[in-house]
Amino acid sequence: MKAIVVRPGDRDSIHMRDMPDPKMRADEVAVRMLRVGLCATDAEINDGLFGKPPDGEEFLILGHENLGVVEDVGKKVKGWKIGDVVVSTVRRPCGVCPNCRAGENDMCSSGRYTERGITRRHGFMAEYYVESPAFLFKIPRSVQDFAVLLEPMSVVEKGIDHAYLLQRRLLWKPRLAMVLGGGPVGLLAAAVLRARGLQTVVVGREEPTDLRAQIARQLGAEYVSVERIQLQSLTDSVGRPDLIVEATGSARVVFDAMGMLGLNGVLCLLSVTGGSAVSEEPIDRINQLLVLGNQVVFGSVNANPRHFAMGVKDFVTIEKKWPAALSRLLTSRLPWSDHRTWFIERGSGIKTTLEISALRIR
Ligand code: BGC
Repeated sequence: MKAIVVRPGDRDSIHMRDMPDPKMRADEVAVRMLRVGLCATDAEINDGLFGKPPDGEEFLILGHENLGVVEDVGKKVKGWKIGDVVVSTVRRPCGVCPNCRAGENDMCSSGRYTERGITRRHGFMAEYYVESPAFLFKIPRSVQDFAVLLEPMSVVEKGIDHAYLLQRRLLWKPRLAMVLGGGPVGLLAAAVLRARGLQTVVVGREEPTDLRAQIARQLGAEYVSVERIQLQSLTDSVGRPDLIVEATGSARVVFDAMGMLGLNGVLCLLSVTGGSAVSEEPIDRINQLLVLGNQVVFGSVNANPRHFAMGVKDFVTIEKKWPAALSRLLTSRLPWSDHRTWFIERGSGIKTTLEISALRIR
């Protein structure tokens, strides 16, 4: 089959090539890929900074944000049929640590997990993949158009879920949430927070006329452009948030966010900052605020099947409340043969997808 691969560690090695067809076992299903979403992790892997091929192989099939359709069902599989539209999770358990054994493989404590399209396991930029249904989620028809966003959505669901879990340490009635960053993760976070009924402020770099701002407002959130206002002074006008989700990819903003949090507040860090920036920070002030304010700052990566299930449920709710808002995140749909265009130019859109095949209605 055709697949888009990289040679991890080599800069700009991305190309399309023939790879062996995956072999389906009796307890697996075979999935034909419809589309993949592209994100900063894919770019970082093609930059040679991240990612590993499967053990003993030279190439890694790239891609972790996925949408496909079941094409064949193994003899031992029950409850799945040809034509089911599905999204697969990314991480596979290490098999040895207690978290992975309990199904919480996003919290793997051995570090020996694998991740499809990222670490030691082939991804989804291919015509087909095979998988155990335990890692697959069926996608209802009403949300199929934007369901390729389920993987980033699961990352958001996990972050917000863990924020609420951490806040069980007190009687917590959050009112104000702030999302830093107007990219796909930021806007998905805004959608989830609005669905939970929180007043939500999205802070982004773009002008208030930008599509990101329009989507935030469609979701009932306020949008503030940092082009117009200093991040730190925002709390004077909107107040100190009970919950902040950081999704900018800038470590500077992470520390600014610590200074903005309200009493008993929680700050969830979702963006990976890949550089080696060094900066002076007011560490005494930050420590004082954290201690005297009973605040929590935590990082969150990946997601487990529970969060994918929460994502599907929220997609349905969000689509009902704010029709087509999430489809607007998909700003560029490229034929997969044009993949290099995105890796070279990146562009100014919100989410680019590579279209691998079309969903044929049976
Ligand atoms: C993916 C996660 C993954 C992380 C680190 C992110 O881009 O969305 O699923 O765990 O990269 O590899």
